[in-house]
Parts: sequence; C-alpha cells; structure tokens
Amino acid sequence: MNPIPIIGITTYARNESRNFTLPMEYVDAIRRAGGIPVLLPPGEPHQTELFSRLDGIILSGGGDVDPAVYRGNDHETVYMVDHERDQSELELTRHVLELEVPTLCICRGIQVLNVALGGTLIEHLPDEVGDAIAHRVPPRNPTQHPISVEPGSRLADIIGQTEATTTSWHHQAIRRPAAGLEVVAHAPDGTIEAVEMPDHPWLVAVQWHPELTAADDPGQQQLFDALVQAVIDRINDRTGS
Ligand code: MN
Repeated sequence: MNPIPIIGITTYARNESRNFTLPMEYVDAIRRAGGIPVLLPPGEPHQTELFSRLDGIILSGGGDVDPAVYRGNDHETVYMVDHERDQSELELTRHVLELEVPTLCICRGIQVLNVALGGTLIEHLPDEVGDAIAHRVPPRNPTQHPISVEPGSRLADIIGQTEATTTSWHHQAIRRPAAGLEVVAHAPDGTIEAVEMPDHPWLVAVQWHPELTAADDPGQQQLFDALVQAVIDRINDRTGS
C-alpha cells in the first residue's frame, strides 16, 4: 500500500485580524490528490526538524516579496510586504533545494524560488510588458489568459497540454531567471509563467493559480496529483518497496 504523503503548504503572513490564513483551494487540491495538507505559518524556527516530518511542499501565493531582497526598486504598487514571511520562505526554499524535497511553487512561490536562487523580479508588470494581456484586474482580482508551454518539459508532460488557459492573479513576475532554472512557459506578452529545475528531482513553479480551477480542470489538478505521486515514488524508493 502506498504511503499517504504529508504536504506542507506555506500560509499568508500574520494579518490585522491576528490570523494566519490560506485560501481553502490549496487544501482541497492536495486532498483530491490523496495527500494530507498541513499549514505552515511563517516564523517557524525549527525548519530542519519540520522537514524531517514533511514529504512535500507547496509555496503558496500571497503578497509581494520585498524588492530590497533582490536589489529591486520600490514601486507604489508593491503590497503586503512581510519580512517574517519573506525570511521564512527563503529559508524554507533553501531546505527544499538542499534536501531535494518535491515542491510545487505557485504565484508568489515562483517569485520566492527565483529570489532565493539569486534571480530578480519585475516590480510591476504593466510597466514592462504593457497591458495587452491582463495578469490581474483592478483593484486586485483574478482573470484568465493563455500560456504556451515548452514541448517536452516536465510541465507539459504533467498538464498534458502545450497551450492552456490559466487563472492569473499577479502584477509581478520573474525578470532575470536564476541560474539553474529553466523557463518552460510564457504568456503571449512574453511574461515568464513557469520554471523548472533540471538539477532537482521534482520542482515545478508556476506564476498562475492552478488551485483556483483544479476542481473543474483536470490539467490543473494534475499539478497537485503529480506532486503527491512524486512524493510517493520518493518514499517508496527510500524504503525499497
Ligand atoms: Mn499571468
């Protein structure tokens, strides 16, 4: 019998209501995939211990990374910057890379991954790529746009498509991809929409929000299913079963 993987999902920062929050769609997508979701609020000092009990990770969406972290420029649209969350997720990403933990990075997650590896971000997309493609709608709501996925990439294999419609909810994106990352999807305006890491056994990062449509879109649910399957394969490899 296969093990049931425990997937840690990073939460949003402490908010004004004194809550740590996470949109429920992440939890539902992991449960549909057969994993056990556990929420990881920022600020955990015992990350090494934490990683000894987790099987996989989702770096979730949320506010912007502080541009100071990647030597970017401040911008009036930068929002929800939280140092505790930035530091926590950057450290968590270092564990993911070092311990080769299967990981799915979503929206803010792809940005954290890139920054952790030394890459940079576009502080506000419309300034760089114009507004022919909306990546969110004012004031801060999701929208949809097409993407093209690199044929032969792990991502194309997982979602079973090289052209897909994605739910987009961001105003930043990767500017300079970090060394070690391979860009595997673009929006029609050239925005980087996904990266993979060939040197890591299972690390997929997308700029869109697969969790928001996964209940009705099998291609998007496949991202969560594939994460859970990668974890199961890894556990079975290690136990020789
Ligand atoms: Mn987008």
